[in-house]
Amino acid sequence: MAVTSRYTIALAGNPNSGKTTIFNQLTGSHQKVGNWGGVTVEKKEGVARVNGIEYAVIDLPGTYSLSAYSLEEVIARDFIIEGKPDLVVHVVDAGNLERNLYLTTQLIELGAPVVIALNMFDEAQGKGLEVDYDHLSKLLGIPMVPTVGHRGKGIDKLMEAVGKAIDDRGSRSRHLQLPYGREIEDEINEIQHAILGIGGLGDRYSTRWLAVKLLEDDAVVKKRLELRSTDGILAQAMVSRDHIQEMFDDDVETVLTDRRYGFVAGALRETIRMSKEQRQTISDHIDNVLTSRHLGFPVFFLFMWALFQLTFSLGARPQAWIATGITMTSKAAVAVMPPSLLRDLIVDGILGGVGGVLVFLPQILILFLGISVLEDTGYMARAAFIMDKVMHTVGLHGKSFIPLVMGFGCNVPAIMATRTLESRRDRLLTILINPLMSCSARLPVYVLVAGTFFGVAAGHVIFSLYLLGIALAIGVGQIFRRTLFRGDATPFVMELPPYRIPTMQSTLIHMWEKGSIYLKKMGSLILSFSIIIWFLGAFPRHSTSVSTSVHNTSVEQIASTDPTQQVDGAPSYSPSDTYIGRIGHVIEPVLRPLGFDWRMSVALLTGFVAKEVVVSTMGVLYGSNQAENGQAAVKRGLKRSIASPLIAYAFLVFVLLYTPCLATVITIRREAGGWKWAALAVGYELVLAWIMAFVVVRAGHLLGLG
Ligand code: GDP
Ligand code: MG
Repeated sequence: MAVTSRYTIALAGNPNSGKTTIFNQLTGSHQKVGNWGGVTVEKKEGVARVNGIEYAVIDLPGTYSLSAYSLEEVIARDFIIEGKPDLVVHVVDAGNLERNLYLTTQLIELGAPVVIALNMFDEAQGKGLEVDYDHLSKLLGIPMVPTVGHRGKGIDKLMEAVGKAIDDRGSRSRHLQLPYGREIEDEINEIQHAILGIGGLGDRYSTRWLAVKLLEDDAVVKKRLELRSTDGILAQAMVSRDHIQEMFDDDVETVLTDRRYGFVAGALRETIRMSKEQRQTISDHIDNVLTSRHLGFPVFFLFMWALFQLTFSLGARPQAWIATGITMTSKAAVAVMPPSLLRDLIVDGILGGVGGVLVFLPQILILFLGISVLEDTGYMARAAFIMDKVMHTVGLHGKSFIPLVMGFGCNVPAIMATRTLESRRDRLLTILINPLMSCSARLPVYVLVAGTFFGVAAGHVIFSLYLLGIALAIGVGQIFRRTLFRGDATPFVMELPPYRIPTMQSTLIHMWEKGSIYLKKMGSLILSFSIIIWFLGAFPRHSTSVSTSVHNTSVEQIASTDPTQQVDGAPSYSPSDTYIGRIGHVIEPVLRPLGFDWRMSVALLTGFVAKEVVVSTMGVLYGSNQAENGQAAVKRGLKRSIASPLIAYAFLVFVLLYTPCLATVITIRREAGGWKWAALAVGYELVLAWIMAFVVVRAGHLLGLG
């Protein structure tokens, strides 16, 4: 009897989830039982007729996953890929969602069209489980119908959803991608790239799925690829596997599995509620405290505050060592080299500029270490949950908070991380407010200025700047949301990875990956700009007044000197006449209402390139006598330039808020797709910085400070 069905649907699910029960409900007596070709695993096929449509129904073997470890898994997977059913009905035990939805992640990855039967709904309710399946369905991007298989409850609705999903197949508005996190996504990209290089492979399989399977070293997929000339792909897969293995200090399969469970846990955290007597894991207990409504926020801010305190206090020692090293190098250079322009360039320009930033390397590394620990323990993912409510007021999802927190490290990768946000509107909004997150490049400026003016309170001052950045990001986000980007946030799953104690090695690797970027910047961008600033600050000068010798200028001498005279290096010209002086005087009027003099104006101007350059510029401008302690000279110079702690704070607020650095501007243009977004970011931030600094100065005066 030939079956002329219109559609084929396959039932997939864990063993004992009720597939066969639902299969029987659907097909009644129209079924036949045989074996899958060549193997003795039972194959059930049948026909269902619903509303005049015929469906061929296949009951796939029960599996927990779709890897290639067992025969059942291979059969189920092959049928979904090669048999191309019109739809997969994924039967899920509603009482064991955590375990059952793991298979769902695999189906999502395969890109198969799926409808979920939330079976055993009766049992789930009996256990006191409340499932917000509408929400869960939105998060997963999969229609979901509760069923009670053996009583035939919900089967009609299920088939209604099946018919609708088949009709909508082509027009599925959002195709969800399982996010694996930046490092792994990078490797997936690499492999996908290699796959796309070889024609035809992508037609049959989703390249992303192939890439993930190759990362998992899937034997079946590898064998299938080996039939073609795919050495390049396999080689890339090996390299990627090794890289992940090394980075996470764990085998790749475990890492990927953890991510999938993290995704499931995240989706469930938002959508199921259990009655009190449910057994809870340790992770749940910790989460009850860390993400609780009352304690979540205070704990989060406590962690951040502790981090910045640590950064400041632990960093001071090694900072002093490096400073001493640089001073000694300068002294040596002065002793060895005859007085010349070249010596000035090396001592004042390069050692003063690059050295001025290099001393903050310990603080940067401590900050990165702290961020890496928070990330690797799984706490950062919780921070996103805590911030979810707040983010919703901006019309964003808590998920957007992750790129924002990454912005504390560096805005460039943070803006790139917004790629995990599906909605363009969410992305643009997150990109635009990201530069308000105080990146590590700003830290040297804070440490230098706050250390000079606020003594022991410096750590608190720095913390307040980070908070101000967050608060303004939310405020600006709300304004943008009311004007440029109206509408609500798209539903989204936030991963909730298990808590774990990070290994020393992987945390150090993560720290170093971030820290090495900072060092590279030092050798390129900051070096070049130190030289340029030195040049602009040293010329034009009279040929006779080339700096002759280094005087051991004493502190008293400096204190008794006219502050506009740059006595340290004792050249007989006025720095105001140099190129840099002229540039400074041109911009100074704009910044004078904030209390900034021409030197600070110049430092801010050069900070357009990168915010550390503010510090290296100060190093060149103020610290031109390297025969004594360069850092001390810079601090004294700052005290001459900046009239009061109030102005110093306004300056720090300005540095926090004003224009993103060049690399960030370029990244915004690329990721947002257009110069106009980059221009908007630069424009609003400049205005915001000026206004906020002005407010600080005015309010401070009113309060009688400074
Ligand atoms: P399969 O392994 O996925 O094919 O699962 P079966 O269809 O064989 O079902 C396993 C057991 O669960 C059987 O005893 C069914 O009667 C029972 N069962 C199926 N659906 C439900 C349901 O919705 N609620 C309850 N309480 N039991 C169910
Ligand atoms: Mg069965």
